[in-house]
Amino acid sequence: PPPLPPWQIVRERRATFAATPAQNALRPGPVTALKNLFLAGDWTATGLPATIEGSVRSGDRAADLVLAANPEKRP
Ligand SMILES: Cc1cc2nc3c(=O)[nH]c(=O)nc-3n(C[C@H](O)[C@H](O)[C@H](O)COP(=O)(O)OP(=O)(O)OC[C@H]3O[C@@H](n4cnc5c(N)ncnc54)[C@H](O)[C@@H]3O)c2cc1C
Repeated sequence: PPPLPPWQIVRERRATFAATPAQNALRPGPVTALKNLFLAGDWTATGLPATIEGSVRSGDRAADLVLAANPEKRP
């Protein structure tokens, strides 16, 4: 195989929040007290640590809730 390009490993301990049980208990779901405001992001209760997959999953879920609240906007 061709040689690998130059690479390096970067370790950043504070890149994300610590996914401890105590911190996980603080993560909110997508629904808020306001009917036209939904939360998304890796910091919400995604069931995953702070990852791209968690943020994408939460964005999909929030978008589904927006469409369910506004069926006339569904494509
Ligand atoms: C160094 C590092 C390495 C990582 N490596 C990986 C990895 O290998 N794999 C992986 O799955 N995840 C990795 N992650 C985690 C991943 O990047 C995050 O989980 C993901 O990007 C979160 O996406 P998000 O959309 O929830 O939030 P973000 O990507 O943080 O997006 C939030 C956005 O909101 C904007 N914003 C903030 N405040 C305001 C405001 N008041 N008004 C308007 N805009 C605002 C910010 O500028 C930002 O663009 C890494 C994170 C870091 C920091």
